[in-house]
Amino acid sequence: MTDFPEIKVPRPDELDLEFFQAVAKAGALHIQRCNACGTWTHPARYYCPNCSSGDYSFAPASGRATVYSYTVSHMSVEPGWQARVPYVTIVAELWEGPRLVTTAKGIRPDEVAIGMPVRIVTETKSPDFAIFRAERAKGDAA
Ligand code: ZN
Repeated sequence: MTDFPEIKVPRPDELDLEFFQAVAKAGALHIQRCNACGTWTHPARYYCPNCSSGDYSFAPASGRATVYSYTVSHMSVEPGWQARVPYVTIVAELWEGPRLVTTAKGIRPDEVAIGMPVRIVTETKSPDFAIFRAERAKGDAA
């Protein structure tokens, strides 16, 4: 446990709400997948960017990813984040294709690198919201 202040979380709506509810309910990463052609999409969209179908579901994703990009924040105006600086924000490229913005869990700023294999884990905050964290992959081939 930490003594960090709670981080304020957004209130998703529309498709984002469907997405976050799927992740929160399952306690694991789910990503929108087209039921017609199988294309994975994130952020969620009403129509598939590949075939324009509106038939989709939120399917379990592998959680396997690599660091596509990252930044290290050394200051923040939000109290919940001020207590955590410096922290690493990662754009993770999922094995399924889409990219997802996460924060690092257990990866120090001097350890993170582009191309580094990571595993995406979720933390359910409410029935309508979960956050994503990128951990160091443990022996996984990304
Ligand atoms: Zn499609």
